[in-house]
Amino acid sequence: MKENICTIPVNEVFEQNDGCPICRMRNLIEAKYIDYITGPAMMEPDIRIETNRAGFCERHFGMMLTSGRARLPVALTLESHLTEVREKMLMKKPDKKVLEAIEKLEGSCFVCEYIEPHLARSLETVCLNYKNEPEFRKLYESQPYLCLTHYRMMIQAAKKPLGRDYDAFAEATRRLVLKYADSLQTDIVAFRDAFDYRNAGKPLSPEAKISIERTIEFLTSRPAATAKSDDN
Ligand SMILES: [Zn+2]
Ligand SMILES: [Zn+2]
Repeated sequence: MKENICTIPVNEVFEQNDGCPICRMRNLIEAKYIDYITGPAMMEPDIRIETNRAGFCERHFGMMLTSGRARLPVALTLESHLTEVREKMLMKKPDKKVLEAIEKLEGSCFVCEYIEPHLARSLETVCLNYKNEPEFRKLYESQPYLCLTHYRMMIQAAKKPLGRDYDAFAEATRRLVLKYADSLQTDIVAFRDAFDYRNAGKPLSPEAKISIERTIEFLTSRPAATAKSDDN
C-alpha cells in the first residue's frame, strides 16, 4: 500500500509555477498520507505497530485533527500509542535506555517518515525528466524558486541520476535560488527602509509588503503562519 498510494505527477506539479515546486510535491504526498492514516488504514495491525513506535509530530497531529475526518480512528491510534508509551517508557525506572527511547520518539513521526522516501523518488524523477526532456528543463528553470531545504535536497538527489549533466543542473538550480534570495533581500531592505521617517508616504511594492512572510517561507519551507505555530 505505502508504495503506491502516492505517485506524484511531477510534470503537472511543475506546470503550476507558483512558489517552490518541491514544497508542492511534499504537500501532495503529505495530504495523501494524512488522508490515508485517518481512514481505514488506522485499523490495520501493521500500520498500528508503526504508529505505536513512531508516533506523530505536532504538525501532523494537527493535520490529522483538521483533515475533516472522523475523530474515532485518531482516538484509537492514540489509545494504542499511549499504551505503548506507558509500558515501554513510564512503567519502568527512567534509566538511560528509557530516556533515549523518549528522545527518539520526540524526533520521530509516522507521516514524516513516509514523506521522506516518496519525496526522494519524486526528486529522482525530476532529475531524470530534466536530463531527458528539454521541455521539462525549461519548466524547471522557469520556476520562481526552490526553498532552501529543497535546494539542498534537490542538489543532494541529483548527483547520481544526472551523471555528467550534474554540474549544469546544480549551477542552474543555484542561480534560480540565488536570484530569488537576492530579490527577497531587496524587498526586506525596502520593508525596513519604510520605517524611516524620510520615506514616509513612499509606496511599498506588494512583494516588499509581504517580504517577511516570503522570507520565512523560503527559509523554513512552510508558510509563515505555520512556521510560527510550529515554534509555539
Ligand atoms: Zn520547498
Ligand atoms: Zn510529521
